[in-house]
Amino acid sequence: MEGGNIYFQECYRYLCAYSDYEESDFVIFGVPYDGTATYKPGARFGPDEVRRASWVLETYSPNLRRDLTQVKIADLDNVIIEGDQREILERIYRAALGIMRDGKKVVVIGGDHSITYPLVKAAKEAYGDLVLVHFDAHCDLREEYLGNRYSHASVIRRCYEVTGDIYQFGIRSGEREEWEFAWSNTHIFTKLPGEKEIQEIRSLGKPVYITIDIDVLDPAYAPGTGTPEPCGYSTKELIDTLYLFRDLRDKIVGFDIVEVSPPCDINSVTSITAAKIIRELILTLGR
Ligand code: MN
Ligand code: MN
Repeated sequence: MEGGNIYFQECYRYLCAYSDYEESDFVIFGVPYDGTATYKPGARFGPDEVRRASWVLETYSPNLRRDLTQVKIADLDNVIIEGDQREILERIYRAALGIMRDGKKVVVIGGDHSITYPLVKAAKEAYGDLVLVHFDAHCDLREEYLGNRYSHASVIRRCYEVTGDIYQFGIRSGEREEWEFAWSNTHIFTKLPGEKEIQEIRSLGKPVYITIDIDVLDPAYAPGTGTPEPCGYSTKELIDTLYLFRDLRDKIVGFDIVEVSPPCDINSVTSITAAKIIRELILTLGR
């Protein structure tokens, strides 16, 4: 039989992510973990569903006039989810640290938001002082939630122990204590960033890590998520904002997209949306 690629399409990886690790500039991995989901679980199915959904998209972005086939991307499959949360977070940390130390940009598909803490920790270990850019409907600044300090509801509070430079965008929900903490400790915005905020982040001169909780979008655009929060942004508003990060592309060390929950989704729209955000962000940050 002739070469397999003539007849068979690889669709278990993210779209176009078939470069070898060594030659790749971007390295994707999934974290199918939703152990800290507080309302509806299901984000454990996010990584595989977002990958599958990515094949609905074209590899070409007309807005960016760039094509995923021009970028070297590897997809390392999913982190093993076994043991307690501490062991799982440690495994995520080790996986990300190795990739970052090789100087590659990390792209992680969650999973609930708790998976971001080990990723930020790895970025700090690999690159030193950094800026965290956080898109979300929620502050995620609780000291702990239901006795767990590593809940998705407290992930940014844990990240604050790693870096004091945190920019939160699209936030529209949180306890009074979370807002008060944010007003005195982070840069929190109900709006999405514009040129001014991008330049401010740039002026810090530090590496940047981006975390995107899909619920920053309005539930109309991203119904497939565990804790939908009304009055959010449209997909177009978010992606137009992400294009601004091209100015920061040399500084950005990686990003994650979390809280996509396929069991809550309608017609795969949230998974496809997440896949498109990943495509546009990779093409924005690519060489
Ligand atoms: Mn959220
Ligand atoms: Mn979140």
